[in-house]
Amino acid sequence: MSDLSSTDCFICRKHRGDISTPGGAIYEDHLIYAGHAQIPEGHTAAYLGLLLVEPKRHAPGLADLTDAEAQALGLVVTRLSRALKASEGAEHIYLFVLGHHVPHLHIHVAPRYPGAPREYWGVRVDEWPAAPRGGPQEIAALCARLRAYLENEGRSNP
Ligand SMILES: [Zn+2]
Repeated sequence: MSDLSSTDCFICRKHRGDISTPGGAIYEDHLIYAGHAQIPEGHTAAYLGLLLVEPKRHAPGLADLTDAEAQALGLVVTRLSRALKASEGAEHIYLFVLGHHVPHLHIHVAPRYPGAPREYWGVRVDEWPAAPRGGPQEIAALCARLRAYLENEGRSNP
């Protein structure tokens, strides 16, 4: 971890609030931040439900996490996966760690929706032309539903 590299890091800047996340944080504590993916540049809509879960610390990859960060990350990913299935009707949840551009771990949590043709299963799931997509308003509504699901789950299953 270096302050020098985290100063310019897109993800660290997002956690500090310098860059806005569409729909705001879905989950946040002292170790973990989870939010919706940005609308890709040049587009007006994003693949709905494509989430990013990140350690707050500027850690490059899974191998760099502390046990506490790893446990927290796993729990958040699991709860978000449940939320995407229950609240958004996803039939399967993919997790990807690519990290080709930003040296700060971000786990892509990608729902696959019913009807997605086999050719789009896997890393191309967000390329399915008929997949649910939305702009800032739809993303904000989805994030609010996920937050509500997580809150209710926490209440019934402490
Ligand atoms: Zn960072």
